[in-house]
Amino acid sequence: MRSKEKYSSAVSISEFLAEMKGLHFNPEEESYEQIITREIHAEDLKHLLLLPYEITIIEHAGNLILKTSGKDGGPAAECFYQNEKKSRVFLHTHPLNDEPPMDTPSFQDARPIAHPSTPLLLAHANGITLFQHPICDPRNGKPLEHDDDAIKNTVRMFLHAKRITLFKEDRGGKSYFPQLDKNRQIALQREFAEKSGMILKEAVWDDDEKKLKPLLDILNLRSKMEVVSGLRSACRRRLFINSNRDQ
Ligand SMILES: [Zn+2]
Repeated sequence: MRSKEKYSSAVSISEFLAEMKGLHFNPEEESYEQIITREIHAEDLKHLLLLPYEITIIEHAGNLILKTSGKDGGPAAECFYQNEKKSRVFLHTHPLNDEPPMDTPSFQDARPIAHPSTPLLLAHANGITLFQHPICDPRNGKPLEHDDDAIKNTVRMFLHAKRITLFKEDRGGKSYFPQLDKNRQIALQREFAEKSGMILKEAVWDDDEKKLKPLLDILNLRSKMEVVSGLRSACRRRLFINSNRDQ
């Protein structure tokens, strides 16, 4: 993976897109990154969705850094594999050219690559989703650790209960997930996200400003998300968005 900081000046999303226009590269092999200093609007995110590859936006040292990435957000997200690196926000896109569009966090997005307190935002065909990593087992509601193996295993067991497998080698009469109808794949990932407590808040592009604004405020580092443990079950955690302009 070659990484290029192609642009040195501070720009808006539209300036970034203008620069990227006509630039052909393989997002699986190289990535570009850019500090974004201008406010990011809903229209900007919609434009990013038109790119045929994923975009990730994270915060580092008070700056929003936009990175191009390949499938599954792997390369751009790699700094998060060191959990101590804590970003104040972590947005990624699911491009519109995925057919049908993947409008929900994926099983891949369930992996705990960010700090538990980092707000995770997903921009997709229908709007913006604020989510967190899974906090409970969707089969029984038991609290789930912020641990890669535990989460991977929970996904595996969730599918096994439906006689589906992620791995060809242990098929044993089960359906192989990648060979399922795409809509079914999306529905299963949506069900997992909902039942494991991943989904915190959603707004669709057609919603008025009021609904989109809290999510855009998180992205623009104007408010923060606090996830507060519920008394009875980790699955009852509640989200509070503090409008705190000094953050
Ligand atoms: Zn994703």
